[in-house]
Amino acid sequence: MIIDAHTHIFSPDVIADRARYAERDPFFGDLYRGHAARMIGAEELIAAMDAAGIDQAVLAGWCWQPHEICVEQNTWTMEVARQHPDRLRALAAIQPNAGAAAIRELERCIAGGMIGLGELNADGQHFDLDNANFTALARRTAELGAVMLLHTNEPVGHNYPGKGRLPLADVYALVKAVPDLKLILAHWGGGFPFYELMREVRKAAANVFYDSAASPLLYSPQIFRTIIDIVGSDKVLFGSDFPLLLYPKRQTEPDYAPFLAEIRGLGLSAEEWENVMGQNSMRVYG
Ligand SMILES: [Zn+2]
Repeated sequence: MIIDAHTHIFSPDVIADRARYAERDPFFGDLYRGHAARMIGAEELIAAMDAAGIDQAVLAGWCWQPHEICVEQNTWTMEVARQHPDRLRALAAIQPNAGAAAIRELERCIAGGMIGLGELNADGQHFDLDNANFTALARRTAELGAVMLLHTNEPVGHNYPGKGRLPLADVYALVKAVPDLKLILAHWGGGFPFYELMREVRKAAANVFYDSAASPLLYSPQIFRTIIDIVGSDKVLFGSDFPLLLYPKRQTEPDYAPFLAEIRGLGLSAEEWENVMGQNSMRVYG
């Protein structure tokens, strides 16, 4: 069973009219204005999954700034997930700054079959992790038994559109403030796993998980071995950020094959492979 825990698809409206959405949402515009960044719908995602032997994918919501776009996109995404119940599961797009309306929207989405929320992005959506609205949202997420996918990225290294500055100390404060929140930190937690070598961080981060989204654009393949050795294979989720081109020098179309081949070549044990590639997603999302 292979589950991609981190994909992004968009509704036909957004794909057809990205310039209008870019006007309404500057962060979306930074990443998707023009036609360089790929946008796909559900059918293209499923075709790519079929070609590569991916059983299921988690649809991560975009980190829309306007609450109204979150609501509109969630309604579309819920319908798509309902049409493909054996292949697609979905996370709600939520703007934490919307306060009580954000919590109501999360409740609507969970009632509609969604399994969590995210990918939230503190830089892109302009919220702080210690803000009262955000904390209330995190608490409600934990009460609902839902999962939060939070964008994190490495504070060092090359720059790229969308690279944020969320401090890892803020992430740690969130983990301590809402310890029962099931939290997936995207993109290897931006280095957070390293601090699980500290006993108190390890203990506090019992419900924290890490995904491998966009990994080949950021790290050498040995990061899988390294992070598994630090946090254990039960805390790492295979995620791709599909349809992002992970090997832009040799790829012109999104394709799972090279990333899967790279992971297969790492010599993970059977148990590690099964955990990372699907079992952890099943356990975390229930
Ligand atoms: Zn991300």
